[in-house]
Amino acid sequence: MTNMKFFTKNVAIAILIFVSFALVWSFFSNELRGIEQITISQLVNDINAGIVETIVVEGNEVRVTTIDGTVKRAKKESDISLFESLTNYGVSPELLRHMSIEISEPSGFLFWVGALLPFLIPFLLIIGFFWFATRNVQRSNLQAFNFGQSRARIIMPDDKKQRVTFEDIAGVEEAKEELREIVDFLKNPTKFTNIGARIPKGVLLMGAPGTGKTLLARAVAGEAAVPFYYLSASEFVEMFVGVGASRVRDLFKMAKHSAPSIIFVDEIDAVGRHRGAGFGGGHDEREQTLNQILVELDGFEPHESVIVMAATNRPDVLDPALLRPGRFDRRVVLDLPDIKDREAILKIHARNKNLEKSVILRRVAERTPGFSGADLQNLINESAILAARKNRRHITQEDILNSIEKVLLGPERKGRIISEEEKKITAYHEAGHALIAAVLPEADPVHKVTIISRGRAGGYTLKLPSHDRRLITKTHFEGELAVALGGYAAEKIVFKELTTGASNDLQNATDIARSLVTRYGMSDKVGPVVFGNREESIFLGKEMGMHERDYSEAIASVIDSEVSSFMKRAFKQAQVIITKYRTVLDAIAHKLIEQESLEREEFNKLIKSFGIKPKPIVSS
Ligand code: ADP
Ligand code: MG
Ligand code: ZN
Repeated sequence: MTNMKFFTKNVAIAILIFVSFALVWSFFSNELRGIEQITISQLVNDINAGIVETIVVEGNEVRVTTIDGTVKRAKKESDISLFESLTNYGVSPELLRHMSIEISEPSGFLFWVGALLPFLIPFLLIIGFFWFATRNVQRSNLQAFNFGQSRARIIMPDDKKQRVTFEDIAGVEEAKEELREIVDFLKNPTKFTNIGARIPKGVLLMGAPGTGKTLLARAVAGEAAVPFYYLSASEFVEMFVGVGASRVRDLFKMAKHSAPSIIFVDEIDAVGRHRGAGFGGGHDEREQTLNQILVELDGFEPHESVIVMAATNRPDVLDPALLRPGRFDRRVVLDLPDIKDREAILKIHARNKNLEKSVILRRVAERTPGFSGADLQNLINESAILAARKNRRHITQEDILNSIEKVLLGPERKGRIISEEEKKITAYHEAGHALIAAVLPEADPVHKVTIISRGRAGGYTLKLPSHDRRLITKTHFEGELAVALGGYAAEKIVFKELTTGASNDLQNATDIARSLVTRYGMSDKVGPVVFGNREESIFLGKEMGMHERDYSEAIASVIDSEVSSFMKRAFKQAQVIITKYRTVLDAIAHKLIEQESLEREEFNKLIKSFGIKPKPIVSS
């Protein structure tokens, strides 16, 4: 709750209290309201006229009954007696003696209410205010505590705005299924403990960046309606030694205090890497923090229903101690979404956007294999920005499709001036890629060819897999290699000259070829062996980035020769295709020079006119 909200709420309550007191007050004073009020001088007149029968004095209140039975009231001065004031007004004591004047104590309740209320109201207001303030302090105490000591953010279950549920997450059905159990437990721990089941303490969410790990963790808290303590592991790692560990302690203390609850440590690989691999001689901050997390995990009693969730996209670098049973023993894997899930995710993020009716999100899903949930969210957002920049109120299909390339490759750079010659070379280069992608059955189909530069690419051919691949065949890799070298081959054949434009292609192709040989065992000469501890050496941490070469000089030369033979074969294949379909290449290149980009439909139409059968885009 924000401060402002808190303030207005309290003011509203104070006003409410005040109004209710006013009501009570007016209710009691109503009793007096029906009676005619007269002034002392009128009373004096009445007395002098001899029509007054009795006078009752009650505090400052004077109640007068006349001979004909009507009742009136008057107020006397407070310091002097009625007798005195009347004589002061010149009423003869004679007359007064003939009347019955009764002095009564003011009636209990009314008197007290009248006397105390003026003091009571502010007093009660203050008490009321404090009551509400402390109630809120209890809650914000947690928050203050958080910020001071553990840096965790907390999302309380009654915070409707921040609440996320499984509804907000599409796809990842298996993960949700696993986590429903955790939700169940948090809602009803005794059901499990009564049977003697050991409750999982730690759940590790694993998945590529943007697959919704953080979102899913929040959804578990949202579904179970428990407090959610969120912090990123890198926040533990502040430069001061010991602080990380004490933050862990504070965090767990807090979470236990408000159990059932969830602690979520995001990006846990920041602290959870293999211990003993620190740069500073082992005793570094990360290690102490990690140790403390382990201690806390072990220290939970079964009845303390605090679940620790953690997320990482690098499960392979985690310290094995974290993964031991009783610690993060539940592992939930989040895959990149397939086409059906992508469509569902797009639907979720399109909920509060103004999409034109004609938009078919399925088409968008078809074009976005490999996109994570976060990419898709970004895509919808980019297309909204695009539509807004064109002063449109609705997002069109075209906006979304154009944004795909922006998300993939960066913004278009239409402004870059290229010479006619450069344009021609780029057109042939891209036509080379596209032609080979269209001809080779095992290559991915072409979605778009363009010579408009985007991001760092001078022009590009957008090919997307026709379905979501889990396993990639050697044939497919070889096809991709040929496509990658298509630009290079086209330049060489057409212009008998090479440019630097192909350097990025060569780099990619070489990387693919090297992986085929050293990681996937796809080279016959080298065989089924993996070389070079790649995973560990790429990421800092274990080896400090030093390349670990675990093979001999002799093997190295075999690897090199195999890599280059893959490359040569691919290049040959590209050359053969380009020579054979030279007329098609020319046609594509000319069309590109003319209109700069070709969408899939136009491209397919063009190659069809040369008798090449376009590849269907059928998605799983
Ligand atoms: P991670 O923590 O795995 O890197 P996040 O949970 O931070 O990813 O996801 C980033 C954003 O991407 C989310 O806030 C959400 O908007 C979107 N997103 C990711 N996955 C999904 C999904 N499966 N369904 C809906 N939205 C998703
Ligand atoms: Mg995250
Ligand atoms: Zn290229």
